[in-house]
Amino acid sequence: MPRRAPLRIGLTGGIGSGKSTVAKLLAGLGCIVIDTDAIARALTQAAGSAIPMIVAEFGPDSIDQTGALDRSRMRQLAFADPSARRRLEGILHPLIRDETSRQAAAVDTGTVVFDVPLLVESGRWREQVDKVLVIDCSEATQVARVVARSGWTADAVQSVVTQQADRRARRSAADAVIFNDGITPVELARAVQSLWTHWCEEPVKQ
Ligand code: ADP
Repeated sequence: MPRRAPLRIGLTGGIGSGKSTVAKLLAGLGCIVIDTDAIARALTQAAGSAIPMIVAEFGPDSIDQTGALDRSRMRQLAFADPSARRRLEGILHPLIRDETSRQAAAVDTGTVVFDVPLLVESGRWREQVDKVLVIDCSEATQVARVVARSGWTADAVQSVVTQQADRRARRSAADAVIFNDGITPVELARAVQSLWTHWCEEPVKQ
């Protein structure tokens, strides 16, 4: 019998929803997780392949002393000039897509999980995955978790939450939603396992 092509899951969720926790749980179940944030960091570190294009677009001041993207400077610039954020994304997104496809092409069976914080915001992803899994929780829980995890102020977390897609938009893009609020980590692990088993057992669509 021919081997089944890999099941491709797009995993997303707002900051503090528990997306990274779910990515780890899926990795523990044997899925190959492709972390698009890690790819973006690698592209923008010293000698990363996005650096020459960033310098050409934003000038040498966009790079710090180590040769990496100066993140705090770019954040300030993107805040002051929204087109700067779009221009940076215009450089990074195609490179992230290429690297993601390269990593995914190396997987010939099992499950590939694309961990994409801005899957809903960046469009395009829907046709590249078989299923979209959204991790959801209330905004109050998002704020409380990130304050506890990262020591940010509640206002700082709230401003990131506000910039991201709202919960309804994210949920409406989902094939499945795990509501990770008021449940224990063990219950979350159970929900992840049962959903993954269910998806793996579904007949392959032709
Ligand atoms: P994200 O990747 O979506 O920003 P994380 O997976 O890092 O979120 O989760 C944020 C924080 O909340 C982490 O410290 C994580 O351990 C914790 N957390 C996630 N889900 C639960 C849960 N069900 N119960 C308790 N803590 C949780």
